[in-house]
Amino acid sequence: MSHPSKPLAPDQIDRYARHLVLKEVGGPGQQKLLNAKVLIIGAGGLGSPLALYLAAAGVGTLGIVDDDEVSLSNLQRQIIHGTKDIGRAKTTSAQEAIAAITPDTKVIPHTMRLTPENASELISAYDIVADGSDNFETRYLVNDTCYSEAKTLVSAAIGEFDGQIATFKAYDKSGDYPCYRCLYPEAPPEGSIPACAEAGILGAVAGIVGAWQALEVIREIVGFGTSLAGKLLLIDGLGARTRTIALPKDPSCPICIGK
Ligand SMILES: [Zn+2]
Repeated sequence: MSHPSKPLAPDQIDRYARHLVLKEVGGPGQQKLLNAKVLIIGAGGLGSPLALYLAAAGVGTLGIVDDDEVSLSNLQRQIIHGTKDIGRAKTTSAQEAIAAITPDTKVIPHTMRLTPENASELISAYDIVADGSDNFETRYLVNDTCYSEAKTLVSAAIGEFDGQIATFKAYDKSGDYPCYRCLYPEAPPEGSIPACAEAGILGAVAGIVGAWQALEVIREIVGFGTSLAGKLLLIDGLGARTRTIALPKDPSCPICIGK
């Protein structure tokens, strides 16, 4: 975000008109979005609405990490992909869908798995990370790397009718912020949390949680309202309720305490 901002072009003033009239966003906020580089982990149920809303909002650079291909059973919730994309790389499909929405977003497809070997190099090239991955191994790796690279992490998870979202910036020692490992010190035993394939997920729940995750990413970039850092937002789609609870730092956290 160090480059000086170009003034908005006439078609950008039109495209982002509904942002520009918001006093919380306006021209300066839109410039921050256009200059922002966001890394999305996973182009699935959460990554689909997340990438679509961030691109439509004018985020200038979107990296998308996913090594999977589109399958027919994805389409019930992964709305960035279509029937014609079955069998294609999710990163390619997402890149094309975004190109159809806007020329302002440069998509960088990372068609690979995030590994301990590539995580630092990948994450350090972005300003902020949004995790919508489907396994604990990746979530811990993303958390630990975001902490060591001092990147804000907006994390979301879904299951059946429920979702949860949290923003982690434990690297920022001006606040008493927790990290993901403060919330989940250890992965639950194998098989104790069923994957989407076994438990099911209502598609619109993925849409709500992914869109709200996009809101939290935009909030962190632009800087409006109250950050979700240090809190956990719980969305109960079955009972039509939401709840926000405080998320304290774990004094025995191996990652974010005493470093
Ligand atoms: Zn921690």
